[in-house]
Amino acid sequence: MIDPLQWHEYRAVLHVHSRYSDGTGTVREIIDAAQQAGVDVLWLTDHDTRQAAREPGPGYYGHVLCLVGMEITPPTNHYLAFGEVPAINASTPLANIIRQVAAHGAAGFIAHPEDRGNVVARLPSYRWTDRDVDGFTGFEIVNHLSDWSRQITSLGRGLWAVWHPYRGLDEGSQDAMKLWDDWGRRRRVVGIGGTDAHQARVAGLRIFPYVVSFTGIRTHLYTAEPLPHDWHAAESLLLDALKAGRVSVVNAHVGRELGFRLWAERHGDRIEPMGSEICYSPGWKLCGLAPVPVLWDLYHQGQQRASETGTLFQWPITAPGVWRVVLRRGPKRAAWIYSNPIYMR
Ligand SMILES: [Zn+2]
Ligand SMILES: [Zn+2]
Repeated sequence: MIDPLQWHEYRAVLHVHSRYSDGTGTVREIIDAAQQAGVDVLWLTDHDTRQAAREPGPGYYGHVLCLVGMEITPPTNHYLAFGEVPAINASTPLANIIRQVAAHGAAGFIAHPEDRGNVVARLPSYRWTDRDVDGFTGFEIVNHLSDWSRQITSLGRGLWAVWHPYRGLDEGSQDAMKLWDDWGRRRRVVGIGGTDAHQARVAGLRIFPYVVSFTGIRTHLYTAEPLPHDWHAAESLLLDALKAGRVSVVNAHVGRELGFRLWAERHGDRIEPMGSEICYSPGWKLCGLAPVPVLWDLYHQGQQRASETGTLFQWPITAPGVWRVVLRRGPKRAAWIYSNPIYMR
């Protein structure tokens, strides 16, 4: 049994591009930005290459653990692989890509599943279209680039958005949330937050410097033991957390405190962590802890069931289904933390 109060929590930025694909920073520059932003884990995912695994290589750089995954990039249906995967032919069907990633023990996530592209910014849609597949670990419930670019509805709004890099994150994509809740009825589908950092350069200007991206969407991963010094062993613990759904998605520009926890409890003697699939019986309650007073929005099967303020949250689980919370904060009640669900079967 994992006692959630004893969990170790790590701030990760997932889905990051360097010069090895279409990002503009060297890996060393990106590591510096991660250090500056107070990130614990930097997980690089260049398009169809793990070159960063050779130079400079995975490992600890100061307090930042740098790991190397990959974004496998067919024209649509981009797929994020965390772990050591070989080169995979991106023109092979998505089902094959998913199988190959899983066969190597990696965690695989559909990237930006509800991306709509943008007509004004001339961005094509990279939406997930091949929806008959299964076998992936989960998908991005938030993607910084997709959610931000939704704000660009005119040239003027585009210029405005460049100066407001976190706009669009406070609500996220309702389509992505609905998709997530629907999939959760069938099986555990882990939700992560994608930074999708590139640090674009336009006319010599850096739009979205890495340090700005790293202070936006983060994915917090929870482990029972502290991460060891051996990067390989540390990666394996983080992959376990990703696959088990011991994951929260954090809008770091709203708040950077650590300490959010969510679990299910029965008669005080059985505790199941966030991400668990539990056989339903009466007597379970959902329990949450926040580091500061927040608004707790509770969702069951995608429907909002309750809204309460405080640092502690308790709610009786009265039916099977997908139970999750969103923590809101500030005058605009911005979405700060998305939990992964507890699944009552
Ligand atoms: Zn992509
Ligand atoms: Zn990407």
